[in-house]
Amino acid sequence: MTTYEAVIGLECHAQLLTHSKLFCSCSTQFGAPPNMNTCPVCLGLPGALPVLNRVAVSMAVKAALGLGCTINRESQWSRKNYFYPDLPKGYQISQYDRPLAQFGGIDIVVDGNRRRIRVQRIHMEEDAGKSLHEGFPGSDTSTYLDFNRSGVPLVEIVSAPDIRTSVEAHDYLTRLKEILEYLDVCDGNMEEGSLRCDANVSVRPVGDEKLGTRTELKNLNSFRFVQKAIDFEVQRQIDVIENGGRVVQETRLWNSVEERTVSMRSKEEAHDYRYFPEPDLPLLTVDQETVRNIERQMTELPAARRSRFVEQYAISEYDSVVLTTTRALADFFEETVRICKQPKTAANWIMGDLLRFYKEDARVDMKDLSESRVSPKKLADLILYVDAGRISGKMAKSVFEEMYQTARHPDVIIQEKGLVQISDPTEIERVIDQVIAENTKTVEQYRAGKTGTFGFFVGQVMKQTGGRANPQAVNDILRKKLVG
Ligand SMILES: [Zn+2]
Repeated sequence: MTTYEAVIGLECHAQLLTHSKLFCSCSTQFGAPPNMNTCPVCLGLPGALPVLNRVAVSMAVKAALGLGCTINRESQWSRKNYFYPDLPKGYQISQYDRPLAQFGGIDIVVDGNRRRIRVQRIHMEEDAGKSLHEGFPGSDTSTYLDFNRSGVPLVEIVSAPDIRTSVEAHDYLTRLKEILEYLDVCDGNMEEGSLRCDANVSVRPVGDEKLGTRTELKNLNSFRFVQKAIDFEVQRQIDVIENGGRVVQETRLWNSVEERTVSMRSKEEAHDYRYFPEPDLPLLTVDQETVRNIERQMTELPAARRSRFVEQYAISEYDSVVLTTTRALADFFEETVRICKQPKTAANWIMGDLLRFYKEDARVDMKDLSESRVSPKKLADLILYVDAGRISGKMAKSVFEEMYQTARHPDVIIQEKGLVQISDPTEIERVIDQVIAENTKTVEQYRAGKTGTFGFFVGQVMKQTGGRANPQAVNDILRKKLVG
């Protein structure tokens, strides 16, 4: 039996977070009524000329730098010619043989192994419009067109065929999305199509250098679909070869209902697009100084932040990954630690209680926690109250829940509920004396050697104090008293 390995490359389109389109001043806002955000340029009317959006270029450069790419001083716009109803010009302004940036990479970690997946190139292009096949009165016989998306700026990020498994593909996408979000250049929303991904997949016998015939998988609307579609496609290609057939180069669509890929069309080659330099735009020049300026504005990237967290706060690698899922969450953690100076405790609260509440709460946007009802200050104060012995860890849990529900400061909750911990030895001693007096028989048994009843006494003291007694103090005093 031959063993096969998969060779996978990913092509991702990321919509840049500009307010206006790539070559005109129309709004890029998602969800506007059809064809509201259009003008002669993005409708492709004769004689309209493109004017480049400077902000889009800096965002693209930022993305490229974040992915470790070299920015080309000069790159070129090219026309990619094809006919489609949602492409009114009959061509898309893209970049071809002279892209904006090249030679980067993304580090992935799968099963503890770190590997670098090369990013071959990043180029800029404009998006096409949208064909709407349903939801309108004449939808059964006609296709409707919405040009709001026409001309929205995109970067296409092309990986080398370095990915070997669907799990690696998933991790690559997770890291890519994270980087783009950290840099504020793309919101990473796959449902709204602001991050789209196609996968090129082929298989070959292990040990072979030569690449097999590849298929291109489209319509992968979530990371989960990417993973499932790759798994299905790899097995399908192996089956074809094992049954004596040949894999055909084609574009295949992922059908998420039937969980399989289906043939869509034979794959077009670059020469089918008749690329040629865009005559309406000059070369795109990005000089060293511009690159340096953009570099200076860049935030710390997720991978760097993770290593720093491990070093600076002595938390585990795993914790550092969870805490840096979004920039907002990482900021939340650091601000909490800045106030309470207890990184491990802060990490435990955030990863345990806070994230559990966030997950159950549809209102929470993990990318913007500025409106979070539990603020870093409130959490840090809660941690400090426990540390100072004002409340027990157990009380803190219920205070936290109340904080999350009501957005109030822990101090207010503690006072209102009379939750203050009893640490005063005299008061605890008084309760213990009472418990001992009420349970003389059990005390005798304890003194006779049945020390397993210790927990019973602790429970009684806790019951009498409404759970407010400091457990450590209760243990210490109880032990002394019970010896007699
Ligand atoms: Zn326009």
